[in-house]
Amino acid sequence: MQPPSWTARVSPAKDGRAERKSPARTPASQEIARILAQVPDPEIPCVSVIDLGIVREIEPDRVIITPTYTGCPATIAIEQAIRAALDARGFGGVAIETTLTPPWTTDWISDEGREKLRAYGIAPPPKGAGAASLKNVAAAECPRCGSTDTEEISRFGSTPCKALWRCRACAEPFDRFKCH
Ligand SMILES: [Zn+2]
Repeated sequence: MQPPSWTARVSPAKDGRAERKSPARTPASQEIARILAQVPDPEIPCVSVIDLGIVREIEPDRVIITPTYTGCPATIAIEQAIRAALDARGFGGVAIETTLTPPWTTDWISDEGREKLRAYGIAPPPKGAGAASLKNVAAAECPRCGSTDTEEISRFGSTPCKALWRCRACAEPFDRFKCH
């Protein structure tokens, strides 16, 4: 499956409707989307706030974001980073609104974002991990060698959003996104 792409989203489905609901629908909001695609997550600079699915809606006059983790110290930093990027590109009048409903889930991380995480050495959560039945059950895949012979060492990784895991196959420790 193709990852949601900011350039491919206008391709209409057979029934005439947009193939995928996109947060950006006007030229102004598409420009904002391009700016936000360059805003790195403060804690994981390899992925953008778009990759992580933090940006829920983009309108010409406002951006709606959902932080990855309630109480995550990065929440304020994310908003500040988005604010700075918008101001720098002449979108100082665009408001940033935060919504916690529905709560952010790891399922919102784009396929592209998952690949970037893996390349960075962070095990991305499996698709559907937000479902209660799978929560924290599936073994993490080692981002280094791909083995699933892994174990959780600590619930607390380098940030509150991540847990520390270790690969039994290659002995490499790695961070894993907590599934929620
Ligand atoms: Zn490994």
